[in-house]
Amino acid sequence: MSQSKAAVITGSTSGIGLGMARALAAKGHNIMLNGLGDPGEIEQLRSGMASEFGVAVHYHGADMTRPDEIADLIAETGRVFGSVDILINNAGIQYVAPVEEFPVEQWDRIIAINMTSNFHTIHHALPYMKRAGWGRIINLASAHALRASPFKAAYVTAKHGIAGLTKTVALEVAEQNITCNAICPGYVWTPLVENQIVDTARTRGISEEEVKRDVMLLAQPTKQFIRVEEIGEFAVFLCSDAAKNITGAILPMEGGWTAK
Ligand code: NAD
Repeated sequence: MSQSKAAVITGSTSGIGLGMARALAAKGHNIMLNGLGDPGEIEQLRSGMASEFGVAVHYHGADMTRPDEIADLIAETGRVFGSVDILINNAGIQYVAPVEEFPVEQWDRIIAINMTSNFHTIHHALPYMKRAGWGRIINLASAHALRASPFKAAYVTAKHGIAGLTKTVALEVAEQNITCNAICPGYVWTPLVENQIVDTARTRGISEEEVKRDVMLLAQPTKQFIRVEEIGEFAVFLCSDAAKNITGAILPMEGGWTAK
């Protein structure tokens, strides 16, 4: 990237989203943070990132289940930065249960946050990118966009849906210097995974150590959790000019999981 861009990252108050926001800020890009959390802690995060990297960092608390708030997130990004150049759809939640016991409200919430919110942000951000003649969209999918696991019906469905949205959007804007790709991590060490260890242990009736060893890292040939910094660097590369011909790609970063 030759100059400072405006980047909006959903779900960037924690985990992978925060890692990507930090990596982009470190490259000199202005950041719109989003996500849930304690207002005081979020303000500390925002001001800390601004002074650490010397870029403008704003925060918008849009709830990814609310189309009106998502529209306002993108509009506010355009207002404060004058453009919306980089959009990273990252906000996501998990719920683990057998399909016949899966609570309908958890299904609806996961589909809304993990999948439908990506449609709304893209819908509102594309006009800015088209006007600028440049844009980068990155959707945080998952190895579960390519493989299924039991007890994750809503999550796997949402992530497979994101793969379809990614390819469709990429084709629609391919001639306009806008790329749209999906990053598909395996298990990344974040609060989402830490909570999932507890839930999976309960659902399967095994210990938390057994979940880590026999469920999670069993799937990942490298036997390592991925670090958020690695995903941050991947996102930076996808935003670079060198990556302008990577589009519509469903890109694994999962320690070899889907090679099996
Ligand atoms: P996390 O729980 O650490 O962070 C999730 C972020 O989403 C937080 O900032 C949270 O506030 C935000 N969020 C949740 N609900 C929201 C809502 N209604 N509106 C706005 N923001 C909301 O999780 P993470 O592990 O960093 O996951 C980030 C993304 O990466 C998710 O889409 C997840 O599915 C995906 N992913 C994670 C892993 C992993 O192993 N951690 C693997 C593959 C894919």
